[in-house]
Amino acid sequence: MDEFLRWLVLAFWSIVGGLVIVWGVGGYYHLRYYVLRRHEPEAWKCQPKRWLRPEQQRQAMKLSTMNMTIGGLLSGTFIWGLDRGLPTGLYFDFAERGWAWFLFSTVAFFLLVDLLAYYAHRAMHHKLVFRQVHSWHHRYVATTPFVVTAMHPVEFLTFQGVTFIPMFFLPIYYLTAITVFVYILVFNIIDHSGVRLSSRWPWQGPTTFHDDHHAHFHCNFGQCLLLWDRLHGTLRRKNRRYGADVYGGRGLASRPSGAEGGSSDDDFVRYK
Ligand SMILES: [Zn+2]
Ligand SMILES: [Zn+2]
Repeated sequence: MDEFLRWLVLAFWSIVGGLVIVWGVGGYYHLRYYVLRRHEPEAWKCQPKRWLRPEQQRQAMKLSTMNMTIGGLLSGTFIWGLDRGLPTGLYFDFAERGWAWFLFSTVAFFLLVDLLAYYAHRAMHHKLVFRQVHSWHHRYVATTPFVVTAMHPVEFLTFQGVTFIPMFFLPIYYLTAITVFVYILVFNIIDHSGVRLSSRWPWQGPTTFHDDHHAHFHCNFGQCLLLWDRLHGTLRRKNRRYGADVYGGRGLASRPSGAEGGSSDDDFVRYK
């Protein structure tokens, strides 16, 4: 019974932690823009003419809360497992590996998680998976903070599972892992806010990057970094045509006579 109680407490606090971040950060942007500046969307909104219907907003809030609850349950179980000897790369004594490894592994962990999120998201845009699973998240063309984890539970579990992988083989200081996951969640909320914002962190793209993903569907698959989209040629290009039925990540030539794949790197939308 003691063990069950221990698990219950860990699961409870993991759920509370996730929900406090989603409703705290999300609520802040909701209040600051959607309530207090609702009358002047041109001044702040990525898509000033598009709004979620009230029932869509409620649906997004419910779905995000449900998925964060599932996520918290799993994270709590993972922490409980650590205590029971679950083999991972996590270490808890900073002195064990020192500063050099800490700095290297922090960068490596962030890059790896972001790269895996890119590939998982790109896989979600495979025609079949998109229609069955990922379309739940893409019902929201103009996003709000509460769209952040409003998705099919299968998609949520896929992302959580995939981004947890590096913790099992890369020696990582436990506070690094917590910080990176909190950072990703907070920036995902901001990226879904629907508010035109740029980041003070040079590696983090502006909100228009992911907003364009929702507006144009099959491009800009990255989570935090634009790097993976640049490397794979899936960053949105100015002279290409995108839409819900244009799969593949590279769009279509906008002029019927234009040669396929004839665009150059200069055509990439510059996100700042
Ligand atoms: Zn997507
Ligand atoms: Zn999204």
